[in-house]
Amino acid sequence: MAEPEYDDRDEGVICPRCMGDGSVSCYCGGDLCVCANYGERDCPVCLGEGDVSHERSAQYLKAQGEAMAVIRAAWPTPSDKEGGE
Ligand SMILES: [Zn+2]
Ligand SMILES: [Zn+2]
Repeated sequence: MAEPEYDDRDEGVICPRCMGDGSVSCYCGGDLCVCANYGERDCPVCLGEGDVSHERSAQYLKAQGEAMAVIRAAWPTPSDKEGGE
């Protein structure tokens, strides 16, 4: 029986950045868009394709995770008494 959920074709996955849209909001701030894209731009991860390779997706998610870790590390900790040190 075929497995409907996973297909082994190497055609990639839905882009985790734009969720398959192929475009993302630019960060110029809506009305004040300075990139001339009027609030939308091609997704930098899938380059407007809407899907990416498994490898690219994993790479993006890993980068996101690392970025989040950096942000969390930079946050002031509300309760500093946690942890054994
Ligand atoms: Zn994308
Ligand atoms: Zn813009």
